[in-house]
Amino acid sequence: MNRIDRLRTDFESLAVDEFLVTDEINVRYLTGFTGDSSYLWVTPDRAVMLSDGRYTAQLAAECPTIEAAIRRPDVKMFEHVGAVLGNRPARTGIEAEHLSLAVFDQLSSVLDRPWVETSGAIASLRMIKDDSEILLTRQAIAIAEESFLAVGFDLGNPRSVDLMGTERELAFALENEMRMRGATGASFAPIIAVDENGALPHYRPSDRRLAGCQTLLVDWGAKYQGYASDLTRTLHRGNPTREFAKAYAACLRAHDAAVAAIAPGRLAHEIDAAARNVLMDAGFGDAFKHATGHGVGLEIHEMPRLGGKIETVLAAGMIVTVEPGVYLDGRFGIRIENDILVTPGGAELLSVQLPTGLEQNALIR
Ligand code: ZN
Ligand code: ZN
Repeated sequence: MNRIDRLRTDFESLAVDEFLVTDEINVRYLTGFTGDSSYLWVTPDRAVMLSDGRYTAQLAAECPTIEAAIRRPDVKMFEHVGAVLGNRPARTGIEAEHLSLAVFDQLSSVLDRPWVETSGAIASLRMIKDDSEILLTRQAIAIAEESFLAVGFDLGNPRSVDLMGTERELAFALENEMRMRGATGASFAPIIAVDENGALPHYRPSDRRLAGCQTLLVDWGAKYQGYASDLTRTLHRGNPTREFAKAYAACLRAHDAAVAAIAPGRLAHEIDAAARNVLMDAGFGDAFKHATGHGVGLEIHEMPRLGGKIETVLAAGMIVTVEPGVYLDGRFGIRIENDILVTPGGAELLSVQLPTGLEQNALIR
């Protein structure tokens, strides 16, 4: 069943007769159209793209089977929506979390109808990846892994990072390598964090030099044909301190426990608990400051979130990260992150090129 038909099958449960998709990424997901400033109107028997003249040729190339309604430059988008949808008493689903109040007011000014505020309708469809999406994600992961190796992190043959410049320069070098391999860019601004900077889970790279660092946290990913990858490695210099080695071992056990827990039918919070229990037992419960993982796809953070209260049932075709962390303020941070496909029989680790063991993650011997 195509993606638009999957949305139509949800019309009854959403209590809508038709749907107006306004979020750019959701429009892309449903149609394959990679432009912006366009809405998709879906009825039981029509799918119409509301767009403008800049995109006439692109729409014909990217989604030839979808009807295009092109507005003239002097017609505003909401006026165009009014003209195309027409004043009928249809219950029209809208994406409440993506539509601004200003735009909603405009639409309401031209269309008098029972709007139905929905939440997560298309995000739910996007949770289950089809074969083409899984392939693109694999490629996004491979690009990220190869770029990590290309900037000089040969994990099987440790060498110095002392010549790599600053956190910011390394972030730039990683993104450059990913673009050279076909990525449209980084899937998010890479986090490169030396020593105590790693204790800040959402740290932004600075001009701090890598030379002489004891630990280095690298969280990065590539965007390839719309699909994101998301990986983290934490490296250390030579023989790690006992404290670091203990925390790293616990983090790795937590990661492995979460991956082992992933299977169709399991609940998202069970995966989180699998990782969290390991870190709590090791005395690092308070040092693990975020959820265990998240879905990844057209966006870097998607459903399902693998967090403490999330009841989402895992199903084959979901792609999630597993990323337990240990953050010790003023000292260092550790995070180990991989991307996992839920398969009919369990789980498949998609990021396979970069080992996670303590030994392999030494910066220099
Ligand atoms: Zn990450
Ligand atoms: Zn992540």
